[in-house]
Amino acid sequence: MDLSANGGFDVRERFAEGAQYVGGTLRGGTSGRSHPVVDPATGESVYAYELAGTADVDAAVAAAARALPGWAGATPGERSDAMHRFAAVLSGRAAEFAYAESLQCGKPLRLTTEFDVPGTVDNTAFFAGAARHLEGRAAGEYSGDHTSYVRREPVGVVGSIAPWNYPLQMAAWKVLPAIAAGNTIVLKPAELTPLTSLMFAQAATEAGIPAGVVNVVTGAGKEAGEHLVGHPDVAMTSFTGSTAVGRRVAEIATATVKRLHLELGGKAPFVVFDDADLEAAVHGAVAGALINTGQDCTAATRAYVQRPLYDAFVAGVADLFSGIRVGDPFDAKTDLGPLISHAQRDRVAGFVERARSYATIVTGGEAPASPGAFYRPTLVTGAAQDSEIVQSEIFGPVLVVLPFDSDDEGLALANDTPYGLAASAWTRDVFRAGRATREIKAGCVWVNDHIPIISEMPHGGYRASGYGKDMSAYSLEEYTQVKHVMYDNTAVARKSWHRTIFGDR
Ligand code: NAD
Repeated sequence: MDLSANGGFDVRERFAEGAQYVGGTLRGGTSGRSHPVVDPATGESVYAYELAGTADVDAAVAAAARALPGWAGATPGERSDAMHRFAAVLSGRAAEFAYAESLQCGKPLRLTTEFDVPGTVDNTAFFAGAARHLEGRAAGEYSGDHTSYVRREPVGVVGSIAPWNYPLQMAAWKVLPAIAAGNTIVLKPAELTPLTSLMFAQAATEAGIPAGVVNVVTGAGKEAGEHLVGHPDVAMTSFTGSTAVGRRVAEIATATVKRLHLELGGKAPFVVFDDADLEAAVHGAVAGALINTGQDCTAATRAYVQRPLYDAFVAGVADLFSGIRVGDPFDAKTDLGPLISHAQRDRVAGFVERARSYATIVTGGEAPASPGAFYRPTLVTGAAQDSEIVQSEIFGPVLVVLPFDSDDEGLALANDTPYGLAASAWTRDVFRAGRATREIKAGCVWVNDHIPIISEMPHGGYRASGYGKDMSAYSLEEYTQVKHVMYDNTAVARKSWHRTIFGDR
């Protein structure tokens, strides 16, 4: 393959020094354990690196702490200028980022080129602007004798932990609001996918963001991850990943009284009312279920279809699923790449195999003959609402469809899992749409679409999907703290309220 034709480069050469980025320098880890980056489309290792140990986390936190006074003390305009340059560097390297993201994740180049990378550039530009809009509420004389105002300040050194499904976008969602608000950060990407997080941090340095503001430690969750969460010099933990690991992270963060932001799992419902545009709903369900091979926390996973449309919806999805082209991520015709790993493929297949005893596998349910971690788009019907395949996050190209009769029933089923990250309602009736958007308990409800995200709007969960917001001005709230400053205006030594202590003396 001519690597340079599609932004390709030699990963081993580029990251020859290692997969830790500390204080603006790439270096090796010190855990004594090696980890591969595997191309999931071929099963071949494309790079191997030494995982970060606790000493690497300590070094990265120290670098972030050293960089903090300078970066927090920069003016909003200076931070904004640097972040605009950051967006320009990323944009100039778009093809390289798309290549590396496709290589380590198996994402079709079409997806990384049209979604992951431009989304990241846009996010960077958004936060470059947002850096100048940090404000506290108005000042005033609320007691009569004092003037109060609110300062908005960075939290300090942020420790962030990210998953493997959108490594570049997750790095962006963690790093950008943190640094826009004047914090410095240590990011721990998933062990399987360090490449674009490292490139992202390097691009920040290249753009003139001072060394130490953005650090990356690539280590195991139990070792580097837990050490980062528990680190006494880390003021805040921001975690995106599974609900199970999120609980563990919360335990550790609570012990050290850290601010915590959790973006956890999802099991998004896709509710189709009987007046919906069937073609739109069928295409929306297929795209919403299969994006990123279903490894998307907001993916459409449970379609509830009102009885009159149910048969036609199932037939339509089955037809489109059977035409999806599964294969080489670097082939422009490929619609669906592999899962992240063979372990994840086997996990997904396990859910489907267990479902055979209680549900119908309409299409898919098999892995094509290939050394890669591929799995065919799988449509499941006939499952009970309380069954595993309806309730658990599968994180693969599997869509379950269930019928409903009344609107009440459809909305109740949509809310009937522990999760609450995203959902969609499909209807041409404005009152039904209004009711669905009010009653579905999720951080995002789409009407007549499913998946689009934009930099200006918040992303985050309800219930077991976590708390706190990524993207948008709301995320800046997570990464700042407000301080009340109060000035005495009387200039008298004996304040009137001192009577509570001195009485009439
Ligand atoms: P995961 O929870 O297994 O791992 C996420 C990260 O946590 C990785 O970097 C991992 O190394 C680290 N980790 C693992 N154990 C740890 C521990 N004990 N302490 C500290 N860190 C630890 O998740 P995953 O399999 O990488 O990603 C898939 C999950 O992420 C899904 O559940 C998905 O829904 C979720 N996700 C959520 C969002 C969101 O915005 N809500 C976005 C993307 C992915």
